[in-house]
Amino acid sequence: MIALWAETALLPDGWAARVRLEIDAAGNLAAVRAGAPPADAERLAGAVLPGMPNLHSHAFQRAMAGLAERLAPGEASFWTWREVMYRFLERLGPEEVRAIAAQLYVEMLEAGYTAVGEFHYLHHQPDGRPYADPAEMSLAVLAAARAAGIGLTHLPVLYLAGGFGGAPPEAGQRRFLHDLDGFARLLERLRSAVAGEPDLALGLAPHSLRAVPDAALGEAVAMAERIAADAPLHIHVAEQVREVRDCLAWCGRRPVAHLLEVAPVGPRWCLIHATHMDDDETTELARSGAVAGLCPTTEANLGDGLFNLAAFLDAGGRFGIGSDSHVSVSPLEELRWLEYGQRLNSLRRLVAASEAAPDCGARLWQAAQAGGAQALGRKIGRLAPGCRADLITIDSDHPLLCGRTGDLLLDTLVFSGNANLIRNVMVGGRWRVEDGRHLERERIAAAYCRTIAGLA
Ligand code: ZN
Repeated sequence: MIALWAETALLPDGWAARVRLEIDAAGNLAAVRAGAPPADAERLAGAVLPGMPNLHSHAFQRAMAGLAERLAPGEASFWTWREVMYRFLERLGPEEVRAIAAQLYVEMLEAGYTAVGEFHYLHHQPDGRPYADPAEMSLAVLAAARAAGIGLTHLPVLYLAGGFGGAPPEAGQRRFLHDLDGFARLLERLRSAVAGEPDLALGLAPHSLRAVPDAALGEAVAMAERIAADAPLHIHVAEQVREVRDCLAWCGRRPVAHLLEVAPVGPRWCLIHATHMDDDETTELARSGAVAGLCPTTEANLGDGLFNLAAFLDAGGRFGIGSDSHVSVSPLEELRWLEYGQRLNSLRRLVAASEAAPDCGARLWQAAQAGGAQALGRKIGRLAPGCRADLITIDSDHPLLCGRTGDLLLDTLVFSGNANLIRNVMVGGRWRVEDGRHLERERIAAAYCRTIAGLA
């Protein structure tokens, strides 16, 4: 049993003073008490928050940051970016993926993310044949999560087609493809790979309506149920205007409307990039209880468009954040961009705030924490008994935070720029970051640099 004590901590029903946290040998919070004396506990400096879940990641893309920013002849769009990405991933095998993911997860932990949803589609060898162990690439991702010590919900991706209506896949997609039987075997293998490890979990990701025809989507839901009744289901849904147009041409409905029609979308679903929704889709998605997976820095980088946040929140919608392509690895930047995009578009301020939750930064942070935890299907995102001991401490000695307490602390954290104010990070009862530095930072960074040098 470990006991921690903090002057102030964010508990499920709000800020509390003089908080004692007891952690059991399995890394779960066993007791959380406000108004407690420090007694024998380890005293933490600064305010304590639950760690932030990062609900959408393609880990290998971290090593691509900056490689798609040079103009080539012709237009520069999401689709030309995707060609660059397909060429980049041709050079990656399991060792490269392991090294890149470990480096990324170190950066995530230092930024305050304590769990990640890895939307994993890079399954096979460059020529499309499975590895000798068809789970090889997934196992590399799991190994990276263990090495960095981040909580991970692994979301192996089902990818069957190159476009709506079962269009044939392109050559660049051959590493992603399965038939349904092969995919079911992969899931079985991964179930045993994560069994008994409380910081790892398994879900499933039909890639998109483009890549998974309706009938197979039904199969995917059934497969998820065989993992667990509440196993997470994630899908890319309406990222690009062209995608909406193609979907309308194919079935007469917009992507979110179509998904809500053909799949039992509910609280265990996470719709990534529900960027382009009309008013009815926005309301219906909010009512479904599913989480909207928002990735503002990637959506900005790719020219996707802006999510309709105000209407979605008004309808009671839930959201979380993901760093997706990892052009940024900072929950604070994702939340700031989410709000600033709305302000620039609507010409007003404090879009995410409400009468009930007037502090904009605090509302964004807490909503993303709750939505992210729901989307990752693990007991995280709350400092409460039975949840994982995933927490971060904030550097209250930093001049920017002088005199800031409670929700003003969160408002300042989100809206004060790029200084990293996160000092210590614990996952599953183990400290992974101390004084702003991951304990394995140098070793993992050296392995990453060797790997990237080998790719050049
Ligand atoms: Zn994605």
